[in-house]
Amino acid sequence: MYKILVLPGDGVGKEVVHEALKVIKRIESLAHLKFEIKEDQVGGASIDQHGVPITGEVLKKAKDSDAVLLGAVGGPKWDSLDYKVRPEQALLVLRRELGLYANLRPAAVDPSLIEASSLKREVIEGVDILVVRELTGGIYFGTPKGVEKNPDGSERGFNTEVYSTHEIERIAKKAFELARKRKRKVASVDKANILESSELWRRIVTQVAKRFPDVQLSHLYVDNCAMQLIRNPKQFDVILTTNLFGDILSDEAAMLTGSIGMLPSASLGDHHALYEPVHGSAPDIAGKNQANPIAAILSVAMMLRYTFGLYDLALAVEGAVRNVLKEGYRTRDLSVDGTVSTSQMSDLIVERIEH
Ligand code: NAD
Repeated sequence: MYKILVLPGDGVGKEVVHEALKVIKRIESLAHLKFEIKEDQVGGASIDQHGVPITGEVLKKAKDSDAVLLGAVGGPKWDSLDYKVRPEQALLVLRRELGLYANLRPAAVDPSLIEASSLKREVIEGVDILVVRELTGGIYFGTPKGVEKNPDGSERGFNTEVYSTHEIERIAKKAFELARKRKRKVASVDKANILESSELWRRIVTQVAKRFPDVQLSHLYVDNCAMQLIRNPKQFDVILTTNLFGDILSDEAAMLTGSIGMLPSASLGDHHALYEPVHGSAPDIAGKNQANPIAAILSVAMMLRYTFGLYDLALAVEGAVRNVLKEGYRTRDLSVDGTVSTSQMSDLIVERIEH
């Protein structure tokens, strides 16, 4: 029996995750499978109930699960809290404690949504990129870090970009393995002309590539990659990069596709996995049944593929999403008129999942 921990979180996170659960139910009945689903609190919801963004008990449940499905955390209600107890801390705790070092963010342009992109049709038609971002190292975790007083009374803020061989090796291996299931191309992004940590990154990625002779490796500086993503995004298959560069480039790649409400993600470790939409809790539309549930639903498709190896079923969910969009159904983020609600959109998708 597959074990899934569901953490809806706050705002639209709660709405879209409950729609995504309808997809899981549909999969169960179609494929005669049974998922053991537990639900708990995270983020602001957990702060309200327990005073902390995530409890030890929830963390234990996450470790005992095959996969975690998360909605989103945060919102204005908790914005004035101390940084250490803010809802977003729960995400960092989960990433660290579950060892989720590989963040996968696909950015594929749906043919029916080309007009929703800010770029020209000929530039984005056929774009299908997978950004593989290192998630537990680099400047977000490196020490020393802090803000200190200078002798003259002014202040000095600093962080440390640091990567060790094994951190680069494991994320590079993951990217090459994923590329083997796609177009067999990896573009590794660094700043090796300036940063020593990038020089090591490039050297280790090149070494790992020797174990994958069937995958084509190229190296790009991050500034060039940012430019190429807008100029000619179709040249990319898998983009492999560091925590900081991946944070920025994956948002840029995401926007090629139109709406943030469409974008799923997976965070993988050696023993655990977490799936979540890329978007946040969207306080401006929370509780209005307006949020696009597709990012959460496609996160379930990623779970089926990467944790459970149910490739056909993942394709079935993705196909249903494509068909609903082809038939012209749109949530409010994708169109101003003739829109469907959050629950209507997921019902339409569920009806079209076929095995
Ligand atoms: P956001 O992603 O919540 O919203 C940005 C914009 O996108 C808003 O206009 C929102 O209405 C729209 N949007 C987001 N998801 C949508 C959906 N499914 N359908 C339609 N429209 C959608 O980002 P934000 O406004 O910067 O942050 C709001 C809160 O979410 C903050 O507290 C932030 O810290 C938190 N946040 C959480 C996560 C996470 O849990 N992984 C990620 C980003 C932001």
